Amino acid sequence: MTDYQVIDPATEQVVETVALASPEEADAAVERASRAFRSWRDVAPGDRARLLRSFAETIDAHRDELAALEVRNAGHPIGQAYWEADNLRDVLHYYAGAPERPSGRQIPVAGGLDVTFAEPLGVVAVIVPWNFPMPILGWGLAPALAAGNTVIVKPAELTPLTALRIGELALAAGLPEGVVQVLPGAGPVAGRRLVDHPDVAKIVFTGSTRVGKEIMAACAPGVKRLTLELGGKSANIVFADADLERAAATAPGAVFDNAGQDCCARSRILVQRSVYDRFMELLEPAVRAVAVGDPRDAKTQMGPLISAAHREKVAGYVPDGAPVAFRGTAPEGPGFWFPPTVLATPDFATLPAWHEEVFGPVVTVAPFEDEAEAIRLANDTPYGLSGSIWTRDLGRGIRMARAVEAGNLSVNSHASVRYWTPFGGLKQSGLGRELGPDALAAFTDVKNVFIATEEEK
Ligand code: NAD
Repeated sequence: MTDYQVIDPATEQVVETVALASPEEADAAVERASRAFRSWRDVAPGDRARLLRSFAETIDAHRDELAALEVRNAGHPIGQAYWEADNLRDVLHYYAGAPERPSGRQIPVAGGLDVTFAEPLGVVAVIVPWNFPMPILGWGLAPALAAGNTVIVKPAELTPLTALRIGELALAAGLPEGVVQVLPGAGPVAGRRLVDHPDVAKIVFTGSTRVGKEIMAACAPGVKRLTLELGGKSANIVFADADLERAAATAPGAVFDNAGQDCCARSRILVQRSVYDRFMELLEPAVRAVAVGDPRDAKTQMGPLISAAHREKVAGYVPDGAPVAFRGTAPEGPGFWFPPTVLATPDFATLPAWHEEVFGPVVTVAPFEDEAEAIRLANDTPYGLSGSIWTRDLGRGIRMARAVEAGNLSVNSHASVRYWTPFGGLKQSGLGRELGPDALAAFTDVKNVFIATEEEK
């Protein structure tokens, strides 16, 4: 076992030291989860629903504590941290409605009765990144539990604190031992052990496309079930007929929320050429007005980046001589700060920031002529997670939403995530869908049973 120092990214102070699990400890967690599965799968639907509601209410009762913990661990602004704790509560409530909903089918066949059962898979490992520790944990955990699986959560090395507390709260809410476990550990050690373990039936992985591909390959030998939520390089497409004031006022939030550390960040803004100059005039004050600072202050909109190493990576996208159109502000002194930054150049396609997922507060703006060019630019990426289209022409909005290769599109809005609608990526942004009414399908296998009603001759 090795120790890991958790750092407050706004102050650079050590918050806590967390022990990282060894492969043997991962094995022991799987053994406990397998044992717990035998009884959890048979808990009556009404009782499982009640336990999930109790879990949700326990999270709600601790929302101040969880939000404050996320502020210290991830540097998220306090208002956002409350949203995150509340999202976990709401996802648990939403899927608490699932165990009692009938899910099997009865299909007409000759000579008998044919029915389907949605069988839980067994032990599910949920591997979580550092950017939204609570929501992403919940999106895997809640439907997996509702379907009758037991869950091991492997939080990111940088952000284990809320996950560890949530594991304690699951027990306090009455969930039996072993049904929810939180295993802090290094990705290539404890995480990889969960991926390779023959008694783990499914991996839910959210993180980088690089590690996602590695995990996909590692799941192949055991034909292990897998959901992948990976990177993004989303386009925010603004047509000349749009409400330009609203488009410009909302564009900073669409990329700089969570300091750009968001898989759905609209990190490419495409603006129709005839309104490009006007849009930039409107965008500049909106970017300068982003309140960057102490995450404990309720007025703060953007906090620091997660770590010194990550800030260095983000800064690499804005080298000396980069075509910076304008920037917002960032505090001086301790903390991993980086100002909101807007890049613009006729040679935008040569910038690494145009092609790669920056995962920081850097956006590139580019002009386009017409719908065809906007579609070509938007789709010129291996990613396909989300995107926005701004236009007053309803037909164009629908045409564009169908043509842009992404799993989650919004017209005249930047909303990508609601726990009651499906979420996930096309192309290399992922595999499978989370959330929404069908999420339990990703945590069950369909079993078809035929019962003969004819007497054997
Ligand atoms: P990461 O891939 O480095 O790590 C994610 C998680 O995987 C961590 O818990 C890590 O410990 C673990 N891990 C690392 N190597 C592993 C291995 N070999 N085997 C098993 N587990 C391993 O990603 P990150 O830097 O924590 O997160 C940022 C990335 O996550 C970005 O690319 C972002 O776009 C993506 N993301 C995607 C979504 C989505 O829903 N599509 C949401 C949030 C973040």
